[in-house]
Amino acid sequence: ITFSDLGLAEWAVNTCKELKMKRPTPVQYHCIPKILAGRDVLGLAQTGSGKTAAFVLPILQRLAEDPYGVFALVVTPTRELAHQLADQFKALGSGLGLRCVEIVGGMDMITQSRSLMQRPHVVVATPGRIKFLLEQNPDLPAIFSRTKFLVLDEADRVMDINFEAELRVIFQCLPKKRQTLLFTATMSSNLQTLLELSANKTYFYAA
Ligand code: AMP
Repeated sequence: ITFSDLGLAEWAVNTCKELKMKRPTPVQYHCIPKILAGRDVLGLAQTGSGKTAAFVLPILQRLAEDPYGVFALVVTPTRELAHQLADQFKALGSGLGLRCVEIVGGMDMITQSRSLMQRPHVVVATPGRIKFLLEQNPDLPAIFSRTKFLVLDEADRVMDINFEAELRVIFQCLPKKRQTLLFTATMSSNLQTLLELSANKTYFYAA
């Protein structure tokens, strides 16, 4: 099985080659075709499994077809994870002129608000900071009104930290018609709350 067997475009396959990704990992093999087909996906995968590229590649492929507005919002529990995610988006999207911003705690909020208003293609955020900005700047929620993808990375940890209030604010700004991708290392019981919060979609379950 190769990356092009999964339905990825030539530029994406070549980017994988340049980044020394020879073959898809299992989570990539299971998730990429489903995400490209428009499904909501719940992926059970550990760090190191290649789970990040499993959602970054198909999101970038869709974005390359129609790079409209803030295309994807990616939420992850910590600043470090947000930084690693943004790095993968930039590496895999280097050929696309991708604009990706990180919205995390500890940075200047006015600068962050301004960079969001410029409608980057991808926003990688921690829950607390993005919620705060969405509530504080009344013009901000509208930039997500046509967002195509919501990704919750390390969803079990997001729920453990009890970011439920933050997620409610985030979900409210996003259109109902979107793809939701959840990635988690464990199937903890509080994921059920998350599934309800995210409108009880029918997820393709990839483990
Ligand atoms: P992740 O599980 O997303 O944290 O990825 C772990 C590491 O594996 C990252 O440094 C990726 O660049 C790398 N990686 C992802 N997919 C592949 C692949 N198909 N082949 C080789 N390395 C990969």
